[in-house]
Amino acid sequence: MSFDANTIRDEFPILSMEANEHPLVYLDNAATTQKPQVVLDALITYYTTSNANVHRGAHYLSDRATAQFEHARDRVAQFLNAPENSYVIWTKGTTEAINQVAHGLEWCIAPDDEILITSLEHHANLVPWQQLAFRTGARLRVLPLTSKGEWEPEYAHYFNEHTRIFACTQISNAIGVKTPLKDMLAAAKAVGAFTLVDGAQAVAHYEVDVTELDCDFYAFSGHKMYGPTGIGALYGKAHALDVLTPLQTGGEMVSHVTYNSTEFNTLPYRLEAGTPNIEGVIGLSTACDFLASQDREDMLIWEQKLARYVYDELKFNNDIEIYSPATDTTVVSLSVPGIHTLDLNGYLDSQGVAVRAGSHCAHPLMAQLGVSSTLRASFACYNTLSEARRFCDVLLEAIEILGDD
Ligand code: PMP
Repeated sequence: MSFDANTIRDEFPILSMEANEHPLVYLDNAATTQKPQVVLDALITYYTTSNANVHRGAHYLSDRATAQFEHARDRVAQFLNAPENSYVIWTKGTTEAINQVAHGLEWCIAPDDEILITSLEHHANLVPWQQLAFRTGARLRVLPLTSKGEWEPEYAHYFNEHTRIFACTQISNAIGVKTPLKDMLAAAKAVGAFTLVDGAQAVAHYEVDVTELDCDFYAFSGHKMYGPTGIGALYGKAHALDVLTPLQTGGEMVSHVTYNSTEFNTLPYRLEAGTPNIEGVIGLSTACDFLASQDREDMLIWEQKLARYVYDELKFNNDIEIYSPATDTTVVSLSVPGIHTLDLNGYLDSQGVAVRAGSHCAHPLMAQLGVSSTLRASFACYNTLSEARRFCDVLLEAIEILGDD
């Protein structure tokens, strides 16, 4: 295997830190990943050599910044295999991208329309649609998926002539299961619905091909794929982006303004009001370079191997209930009946192990699982087998100590 986690670790300065006087074991990667030195350097280099506002065309620095900014758009379009760079719209992240679509399609939603999501969604791919349904009188429907990511054939009728929008995550952030995306997208397309894929949990692990997926919209965040926070993108097909009402209005997104009227700019600028997050865009493009320079297949195999190791170590423990699948995942989400996940989290943190306890912004999914929260360890390319081992050891220690209370 050409991929080596120990080598790649050296590129992430924060990983050599201690946390609570123990070596840091960072297993909260589904929340956000750490950043490699190349991404950190790109941010500094931008501010030290190119900082200016973009698209103002006023001077040398502005031209430099604009060139880098638009090169980044090309880079992200290539990363997604988007056919045109103008189909990539910068957003703050997945949340803003989904809100842009939910707001942007409001004009075409009628009271007898249906907006379809799945039962595995993050609140970011639920609340904007729920609120859209409230505003328009449309009906929000939830396609039941099992915690194994299965879609039962008797639910085919959820896709029908009323379905105007189908929005679905590629991978559940809470339990790490993949959804049957291709089948669902085909069903949504067959009834003429707009389709949106929430790729927040996919981009760090899978090579994304929006052309092959053939979805109308694809949303993701840079910070979950080794890029900076505050930047993400909305990919859309031309016909889908063209009909969106802009979420924000102001400078940059216009071509001519009078007191009585506004002529909007062309794509992508029509959906990018105001001064963009220039350094974020450059950092995101560098994160794409970082990922592209790796053997992505081997990287994913490694990440899955770590999750599988933890799964196998814990699966026979009667104190522990695991909600993630055994294979094909980079996440292990679990609970220990009788011990609060926050207490487990606190003990792990005291030993330098960073995981996440809570509902993972997925209250309805927690209800489906019959718990209020889970403890989630999520792996990235720089994690090692000894870190996976340490997580298991400290968790078992925590159960022993806290279980006696
Ligand atoms: N969808 C999923 C599946 C996520 O995991 C997240 C982040 N936890 C989001 C949407 C929202 O992403 P952001 O907070 O970066 O906008």
